Amino acid sequence: MTADIKAWVEERRAIIHGAREAIRPVEAIDLGLTDLPRALDALNAVLKVHSPGDVFKWADDCADPENHHLFTDVRTGDMLCEVEPVGRFCNGCVPEKDTMIDVDEYPWPCPTVQAVDSALEGTIG
Ligand SMILES: [Zn+2]
Ligand SMILES: [Zn+2]
Repeated sequence: MTADIKAWVEERRAIIHGAREAIRPVEAIDLGLTDLPRALDALNAVLKVHSPGDVFKWADDCADPENHHLFTDVRTGDMLCEVEPVGRFCNGCVPEKDTMIDVDEYPWPCPTVQAVDSALEGTIG
């Protein structure tokens, strides 16, 4: 989903760049072609904050602890298996200071990304 939005943004950036090259600077200002890249940057900034994070399986539930990379979650101190993500959450929506979070409360795609996605719907794909 974000990959689609990012592709959409890059496509528009290329179109705007092409248009700005083709016309005189004063016309570019008239057409809003100097502001649009900033709007796209703003969209990118939102997507950078609201990015997907993987939910990993407990190391205790790991199917192959000998071969899988197990690591300690810096947030909770739990041992997790990096090889078997079991879901996704939104990095931007999780309260940073919270150490014990229920990631199910912060689903991916989050309402912010869903809103961006539906606003662009019909344009993507
Ligand atoms: Zn594993
Ligand atoms: Zn979010």
